[in-house]
Amino acid sequence: MCMDKTPWERVCEFHGHVCPGLALGFSATTLALEKLDFSRSVDEEMIAFVENNACGVDAVQVLSGCTFGKGNLFFIDHGKQVYTFARRSYGKAVRISVKYGAFYNETYSRLRMKINSGEATGEEKRDFMMLQQKHIQNILEAGEEFFDISFVDIELPPKAKIFKSVRCDKCGESVMETRTVSAEGKTLCIPCGNH
Ligand SMILES: [Zn+2]
Ligand SMILES: [Zn+2]
Repeated sequence: MCMDKTPWERVCEFHGHVCPGLALGFSATTLALEKLDFSRSVDEEMIAFVENNACGVDAVQVLSGCTFGKGNLFFIDHGKQVYTFARRSYGKAVRISVKYGAFYNETYSRLRMKINSGEATGEEKRDFMMLQQKHIQNILEAGEEFFDISFVDIELPPKAKIFKSVRCDKCGESVMETRTVSAEGKTLCIPCGNH
């Protein structure tokens, strides 16, 4: 029998492993999509701003369809667990921020540090695995109280454009015209321009 994969299974498959960070992104995105009344079956453009580039962003891409390749996923390097989603037609964006310490678990953090430093015993490793399962489950089942949710006005970036490619005068490779630099009358790609 062929069973459809659950959204969480699809996210894990895409990401390649199961981890708490992925669960965070999953919960935040699920919540945001509910708030924006969005279902992927509706062919409508969604935009996401992510303020970290860690595991959770893979859940954003699978669930919302906002991807790096499509140009509707924007990374702002703030190192924060904050996810903002907007629908072009909606006029508002929803900002989801994971509350400080919302998913903090002392034992889990301690064991993780021991594992990272290679000091964990076999028993501690087993404990960690079990705790991690539980930890992930807790995050997946987390209600709105674990997040700060607000509707915000944002300026929507213009739709992704396709630019002409030109040839770099030094390396000969193709480069998007808007990313070239000129030096001594030559048109160069950025890496060549930096040398
Ligand atoms: Zn991960
Ligand atoms: Zn070049």
